[in-house]
Amino acid sequence: MGRASVSFRLIAAFVTLTATIAFAVPKAGANDAFADARASMVDKIEDIAGAVGPVDGRDRIDGEVLAAMRRVPRHLFVPDELTGLAYADRPLPIGYSQTISQPYIVALMTDLLDLESGDVVLELGTGSGYQAAVLGELVSRAFTIEIVPGLAEQAAARLAQLGYENIAVREGDGYYGWPEHAPFDAIIVTAAASHVPPPLVQQLKPGGRMIIPVGTRFSVQHLLLVEKEADGPVRTRQLLPVRFVPLTGGH
Ligand code: SAH
Repeated sequence: MGRASVSFRLIAAFVTLTATIAFAVPKAGANDAFADARASMVDKIEDIAGAVGPVDGRDRIDGEVLAAMRRVPRHLFVPDELTGLAYADRPLPIGYSQTISQPYIVALMTDLLDLESGDVVLELGTGSGYQAAVLGELVSRAFTIEIVPGLAEQAAARLAQLGYENIAVREGDGYYGWPEHAPFDAIIVTAAASHVPPPLVQQLKPGGRMIIPVGTRFSVQHLLLVEKEADGPVRTRQLLPVRFVPLTGGH
């Protein structure tokens, strides 16, 4: 890979995350005034995926993931003063020092989970609820945990208003997972952890996949893919450098 593409890859992967504000709303998938903006956002995601090159051997984002992102009204997951930037390929602030992730990163992480329609998925770091909504479009049930009470409440209200009955939001420290609903076919962590939380590995189904950024605020973070083999062993692969807000909590 050439030097230019390496640095592009680094830049493209730089993320900061999170969101806010519920306004009255068309349901996800509605042909609202932002449909064209969403389609352009998805075109941009495909361009970036092409420029970044293969990640874990795949050089494009799955069509169903892209279709889901063409449906979810991202403008309803950002503060209303940022509505005009909602479909730009960049993270945006959502209050409480958190961010909604860059759309390309949402697409990439969702794609890497290899989701099936019957899957049950856990997300750590609900933030705005946008990533959860994308998951909700693709799987049978999504559980999502947020440590900041204000964000958890807003995201739960927003997702309910949008009609996502298959998504459950809980306030709490996601480090310990959600044992009542385990095991999960897939787990996605949207804040950077210093290590892979053992409770999450435990709550992953054999054959399941977890995608998690690992590193600190001051060091390079890497997106890791953790796969639990059907017979038990866990394989971890480091995929690409990213930047996320830190996972907080008491562990
Ligand atoms: N997925 C979100 C963006 C998440 S930003 C979206 O689509 O908008 C990361 C989020 O992780 C922040 O909201 C932060 O408060 C939350 N977070 C940080 N540490 C956490 C923890 N231990 N448990 C649950 N959530 C956590």
